[in-house]
Amino acid sequence: MSLLKGKFQQQGYLTREQLKEYAKIQNISYQLVKKVLSDLGIKIYDIKPGERTNKTDKGYEKCVLCGKKTEIKSSHPISDRDYYEKGVGQLCRECYQDL
Ligand SMILES: [Zn+2]
Repeated sequence: MSLLKGKFQQQGYLTREQLKEYAKIQNISYQLVKKVLSDLGIKIYDIKPGERTNKTDKGYEKCVLCGKKTEIKSSHPISDRDYYEKGVGQLCRECYQDL
């Protein structure tokens, strides 16, 4: 477990991926690694902290003029978007009104 403990001291947390990787290397089950770590009081994250917020940020379009994040989701169809200017791109409300 010293490898995982070292990582834990470095990062302050461990991810599920790291546990799985370790279990594979050591040829032991992931459930066992998880149990031993939780007995040691080590926190396990399903994802890296902060990853989730980055993802939601990326899910939104940025204004092509001022670079500000808009309320328009990237997955939203262009034909159905507000403040979208053909040949220009996605704008925020303020820039769109200034045009
Ligand atoms: Zn703008």
